[in-house]
Amino acid sequence: MVHSWRDSIPLSDEQTLVRDSIREICQEFDAEYWRKRDDAEDYPHEFVETLSDHGWLGILIPEEYGGAGMTTSEVAVMMEEIAANGGGFSAAQAVHGGIYNSTPLVTYADEDLKSELLPKVADGEVAIQSFGLTEPNAGSDSTSIETSAERDGDEYVINGQKIWISRVDATDYLVLMARTTPRENVDKRTAGISMFLVDIDDAYDQGALEIQQIPKTASGFVHSYEMWFSDLRLPADRLIGEEGRGFYQVLDGLNEERLAIAAECVGLAEAALERGIEYANEREVFGSAIGSNQSIQHPLAEAYTETLAAKHLLYGAAETIETASQKETGAMANAAKYRAAEAAFAAADAAVQTHGGFGVAREYDVERYFREARLTRIVPITQQLVLNYISENVLGLPRSY
Ligand SMILES: Cc1cc2nc3c(=O)[nH]c(=O)nc-3n(C[C@H](O)[C@H](O)[C@H](O)COP(=O)(O)OP(=O)(O)OC[C@H]3O[C@@H](n4cnc5c(N)ncnc54)[C@H](O)[C@@H]3O)c2cc1C
Repeated sequence: MVHSWRDSIPLSDEQTLVRDSIREICQEFDAEYWRKRDDAEDYPHEFVETLSDHGWLGILIPEEYGGAGMTTSEVAVMMEEIAANGGGFSAAQAVHGGIYNSTPLVTYADEDLKSELLPKVADGEVAIQSFGLTEPNAGSDSTSIETSAERDGDEYVINGQKIWISRVDATDYLVLMARTTPRENVDKRTAGISMFLVDIDDAYDQGALEIQQIPKTASGFVHSYEMWFSDLRLPADRLIGEEGRGFYQVLDGLNEERLAIAAECVGLAEAALERGIEYANEREVFGSAIGSNQSIQHPLAEAYTETLAAKHLLYGAAETIETASQKETGAMANAAKYRAAEAAFAAADAAVQTHGGFGVAREYDVERYFREARLTRIVPITQQLVLNYISENVLGLPRSY
């Protein structure tokens, strides 16, 4: 693969080390590996285990708990590389939860829980791959969630339903968001929501959890589920952080996570562009390479400019995250996610068109990138909701809903 046009942004020594290490690991998992996972809708266990064996799932866990103690600046490089080296958005999504779901524990869990779990997450013995917020009756309006957690002595009792929860089949624990106070009894809609750590095996053992996989057209090898909780009993020490403050705890790490998502979209755009450029140079019709036609060149060149813009926004935000205000980082992280998803869509669309009929043939992979690029406009937050955020919080426009 030719990486030179991708490597135009200066990286720190640590970022360069991450880039080179992840690139090397990704070479073991070629296009055929990912195609087979996508065809069979098989979770890429070998890939995730390899990353985990090299300690990469503990990239954000502090060194005192056995992790690498790195930051989102390095995770962005890791995720971009995973996606760009052929795995696409889905390959990055296969490990995304395993990296970010332990961060609320690092910040908010008590010392006993941290010392019990974080070293195991860092060395790959335990996975916290799933995060459960979305509900059928709430959707993007996440403060309307109805799953309840009622205190009963030393326990909480959980009842309710979640939807679209990813990687439940590949996790030991789920970070669950539930209401400890109903919405009608709180002053602010963001209050009264709490964060819990659910041991999935224990939930099954109690007979308190049922799940059903949701068939879908994109990211098929990272499975998503509907979940039903009925009288699940959790020890009170499985509350992460403060009761009623869970939503604020989620918001706390949101910008960092959004930058990682932007990096995954940038990587997907780069993978699609790389395949488009390769085919445009190789394929000859009417006696010359199709890439000599400007109608083939320009969409690729345009998608490149979008990708580069998203990449600068993303790494600029990652670089200043420690010093910038929450508001400044929020503006950049949301803008980066928006631009990166649009860049991924433009790049994948150009790559499909460049391939002509082979654009829809599975063996050329660009059709998978296209399906994934479409998904990036919806998850983990829709493009409209990102624009709502920017309109209200950056431009100071009134909230309309
Ligand atoms: C593959 C996949 C994996 C996922 N994984 C997880 C997971 O692991 N954990 C988890 O908790 N969730 C997960 N989700 C859920 C995801 O976060 C939601 O699908 C997403 O936030 C959108 O919510 P919704 O689907 O209910 O859409 P809705 O909220 O019903 O929105 C439908 C449409 O209306 C638009 N809309 C709604 N309100 C407004 C408004 N005020 N202004 C403008 N437009 C508006 C939306 O942008 C969207 O286009 C996943 C989803 C998918 C598809």
